Amino acid sequence: MPQSSSPALPPDPVIEPTPTAPDSSVRRRPSAGPSTLAVHAGEDHVKPGFAITDPIFAASTYTFPDTQAIVDFLEEGQTREEYGRYGNPGEKVVEEKLAALDAGEASVLFSSGMAAFVGLLMAHVDAGDEIIFFDECYHRSREFCRKHLTRFGVGFREVRTCDYDAMEAAITPRTKFIISESPTNPHLSVVDSERFAEIGRRNGVLTLIDATLCTPYNVRPLEAGVDFVLHSATKYLGGHNDLLAGTVTGSAELLEPVRKLRGIMGGVNSPHNAYLLERGLKTLALRMERHNANGQAVAEFLAGHPRVERVLYPGLPDHPYHEIASRTMRGFGGLVTFFIKDANWRQTAAVIDAVTIPRIGPSLGGVESLIEQPMVMSYWNYTPAERATFRISDNMVRMACGVEDSADLIADLAAALEAAE
Ligand SMILES: *Cc1c(COP(=O)(O)O)cnc(C)c1O
Repeated sequence: MPQSSSPALPPDPVIEPTPTAPDSSVRRRPSAGPSTLAVHAGEDHVKPGFAITDPIFAASTYTFPDTQAIVDFLEEGQTREEYGRYGNPGEKVVEEKLAALDAGEASVLFSSGMAAFVGLLMAHVDAGDEIIFFDECYHRSREFCRKHLTRFGVGFREVRTCDYDAMEAAITPRTKFIISESPTNPHLSVVDSERFAEIGRRNGVLTLIDATLCTPYNVRPLEAGVDFVLHSATKYLGGHNDLLAGTVTGSAELLEPVRKLRGIMGGVNSPHNAYLLERGLKTLALRMERHNANGQAVAEFLAGHPRVERVLYPGLPDHPYHEIASRTMRGFGGLVTFFIKDANWRQTAAVIDAVTIPRIGPSLGGVESLIEQPMVMSYWNYTPAERATFRISDNMVRMACGVEDSADLIADLAAALEAAE
């Protein structure tokens, strides 16, 4: 087939991979460490123009040299691109990298974590099915199921987080999915993925873990037998508070309908955004080491502070899930939840307003530390009774440690706790 690319460029390995190219690259070497995978997985060893970085194909459509080429494409199921909503070459690189990082067969990249969540469920649930959640979960995931899936006749139930017996007891012949986050946000409960996967297998239901808070650097739930792992790549995977994206990883077979539905729903990333995510992913392991170290140091500092009533961090020995976390996680992440002693919501807000390094805002997982009061930021429009069922109290603070120096973060918190007294 004649190539229509510029004669100044070598043959394009993305469009036409050389079958004879030595597979000495780390494209899909499952035994490689997380940092090697983060840097190299999914990428061709030799790229267009011999550039070390992947090109950004800023294209909404992909052309065919003649009509026969279209027929060949359709008949032979070629992997080339066709139209931007169905995929672009840079997105494929990121998807392969994400799949390798999570030890999965395939990944489907979406324009946000919520788009990934909605896309996965819409592809796999039918009217009459029901899904069961562990109850500590992102409020928008919950809202999608409660307010929207129910409109299509999909049932929705919640059981107490990490109550495996209650989860198993809630399963009926209609149950299609059981879903959890791990660690949960903001309580940081840690799910035993093996046990969770086992309940799914035994009952013939699909299992999904939203592992946004741990990332594949800290835990890989697919290795425990879970069917799908979902990440808001907006958080640690992108890592720089400068993009939104989401991904779901699992078996190629189970993800095929998800990919097809994405092509219809259209929640795809622009080529530029996909590149930004690829760039962010390169330093995932390095950043996670620092997020883990900062989370631990800040949690330990807060745990010893007289104005702090309680700290939730899986790396602290008194955390209810410390044992399972220590057994299954490489590190405990950058999110630390704590409660100001004897403080109403305004006194709690005063501490947040007094810190100077973390910025006040939602989200987590970026290089910049962020701090917020869940009662105000995410649960302001809920009644006190609803907040109580979600275990969101007025004196709760959530700090997402970035990659700054932990000594500076601690000094800042110390000053804020003193100043706002
Ligand atoms: C942020 C977040 C989401 C939603 O992801 P977006 O990229 O914001 O759409 C889902 N789950 C968890 C645990 C999150 O933190």
